[in-house]
Amino acid sequence: MQAWNKVSRMPAAAIKKMQDELFTKMIREELAVRHPYYRELFKESNINPDQIKGVEDISNLPFTEKEDLLPREADLRHPKKFVLEVPSEGEQKGKKKGFALFGKKDTGPVPSDYKFHTLYFSAGRTGKPVPFEYTHHDLRNLKEAGTRAFDVLGLTRDDTMINAFTYAPSAFFWQMFYSTVETGSTALQAGGGKVLGMEKILKAMDNMEAPVLVCAPGYAIFALQTLEHFGFSAGNLERVITGIDYAPMEAVEKMRRLMETVGANDKRVQRMYFLAEAKSGWAECEPDYGYHTNPDHIFVEIVDPESGAAVGEGEAGEVVITHLDSRGTVLLRCRTGDIATGGLVTEPCPNCKRTVPRIMGDIERKAYYFDLHSGEGPVRFDGNRLRKMMIARDDVLVWYLEINRDGNQDALNLVVKGVSGSDEGELLKSLEQELKKEVAVPLTVESATLDAVANKIGLEKFITEQVIFDNRNH
Ligand SMILES: [Zn+2]
Repeated sequence: MQAWNKVSRMPAAAIKKMQDELFTKMIREELAVRHPYYRELFKESNINPDQIKGVEDISNLPFTEKEDLLPREADLRHPKKFVLEVPSEGEQKGKKKGFALFGKKDTGPVPSDYKFHTLYFSAGRTGKPVPFEYTHHDLRNLKEAGTRAFDVLGLTRDDTMINAFTYAPSAFFWQMFYSTVETGSTALQAGGGKVLGMEKILKAMDNMEAPVLVCAPGYAIFALQTLEHFGFSAGNLERVITGIDYAPMEAVEKMRRLMETVGANDKRVQRMYFLAEAKSGWAECEPDYGYHTNPDHIFVEIVDPESGAAVGEGEAGEVVITHLDSRGTVLLRCRTGDIATGGLVTEPCPNCKRTVPRIMGDIERKAYYFDLHSGEGPVRFDGNRLRKMMIARDDVLVWYLEINRDGNQDALNLVVKGVSGSDEGELLKSLEQELKKEVAVPLTVESATLDAVANKIGLEKFITEQVIFDNRNH
């Protein structure tokens, strides 16, 4: 753990030197010694930990895929292989030498840092949830990541907030919870639609005169669209902080428009990027300035999603993370399946001047790229792009898309509920026109009731809603 005021102002060369030291130490003193999975992998692959001198050697090491982390049918305890073993007391005494980070004396591993605290799970929107083990050391880092994110967001103890992230054993909710506690803010831990429901969340926002709403993007948009229906005022609302699910700039713009429409006091929207694999989330100081990462916690790589080769600064690619300071579950080069459209940049943020590496652009899901069969052969369909288009429209309240097999080709069916007062016939017609240009397979558009769509997408049931359903393999 390093002081944030120091880390966030460090020149790029100093960040690189710090990461080299942390990475080498992690490989040699943790993964090669007490990590069941990587210790074995290094042996099998003839990787000599002593030859790893810094982060530039990382490309010689294999990737970890999400599938590697999942429980096996024959071995439900498989995820435990990614958890560091607790060092013995003797190891501490017998230790001869270690790295002296920033001149601090290295006293060797402290067994209490490795003590199991809790499990948080990945959101499991598109796959099985993966368990991540947090020790007390990780809990301290989670709190630290939280207070740093609040600093980047410019939140202080004077900002009363409604934490409407879904209550669940996932780091998203808990990082936000701990940040409010550590910062000393007044906060209602609402638990999201699943726990409190929309009406009570809006009522709390009104009663507490809370200027800050913390909410997943789809749910925030839905809240702003239905506020008037429930008869609540948004007069005190000043900003929405959105996270868990990805919020493209189209979502930021839409929230700003809606905040204006409902008479909010200000229309500030800020984004956070939570990554279960990183065991924490990062914030943007302002939209489109990039997620300000913690270079002493995580080493971020951006790679070509097909070849796995590193891409250049600021180029789009898949986010790959390596833990530099975790205990419990520790990951090396884990491919997240998330695409950062603006890649990674290491120059200081032009807005806040912090120097930490920033993940730029919108985050997209690799799992939302679909290969479809058309009458004329295979075609690629980008669900991320569809999601952006649907978010951008002001006449759509909720929606989902089904991908079906229809004989020899695939077909899409879009189900939609318009905002109240919209002409349904017009809505269906204009959606059909807009989307037909985008897809090379047959497309139908139909309307359904709010209840039917909300239920299907799990608006108040899941951590975030699911909007694309691939029915072809089921
Ligand atoms: Zn910034």
